[in-house]
Amino acid sequence: MSHSENCIFCKIAAGAIPSRKVYEDDDLFAFHDIHPWAPVHFLIIPKLHIPSMAQVGPEHAALLGRMMVLAPRLAVEQGCNPYPAGGFRTVINTGEEGGQEVHHLHMHVIGGPRPWLKG
Ligand code: 5GP
Ligand code: ZN
Repeated sequence: MSHSENCIFCKIAAGAIPSRKVYEDDDLFAFHDIHPWAPVHFLIIPKLHIPSMAQVGPEHAALLGRMMVLAPRLAVEQGCNPYPAGGFRTVINTGEEGGQEVHHLHMHVIGGPRPWLKG
C-alpha cells in the first residue's frame, strides 16, 4: 500500500498535517520530532507506508539504504557535531515491545551536545 488513510506520518509526508520539515525528495521525508529527546531530534520516513521494520523485504533495500545514507548528512546540517567527538544516535522502534508508537516506519536521529551523557 502506498499510503494509509489514518496514518499520521503519511499525512505529514503529504503535507496534510504540518511539521517542521528537515528534508524531502521523491521517496523520503524528514521532520523534527514534536517531543525532542535531545537538542537535535528528527525523524526520517519513507513516503511509502511501511508499518514497521517487520514488514520490510528485499524490495525495500534501496529505500532503507537511502535513509541510512541521508542520516549523517542531515545530522550535521541540523547541528550535530562531527564524528567522532560529536555524532548522533539512530533508533528504529519496531512493534509494541520495541516501543513503537507510530506505525509508519521511521528512523529517529538524535544528537547535539548533551552534557548529561558525559562522566
Ligand atoms: P516511536 O515511539 O513510534 O518510535 O516514535 C514516534 C515519534 O513520533 C515520537 O518521538 C513522537 O514524539 C513523534 N510524533 C508523534 N506524533 C507526531 C506528530 O504529529 N508530529 C511530529 N513532528 N512528531 C510526532
Ligand atoms: Zn503511513
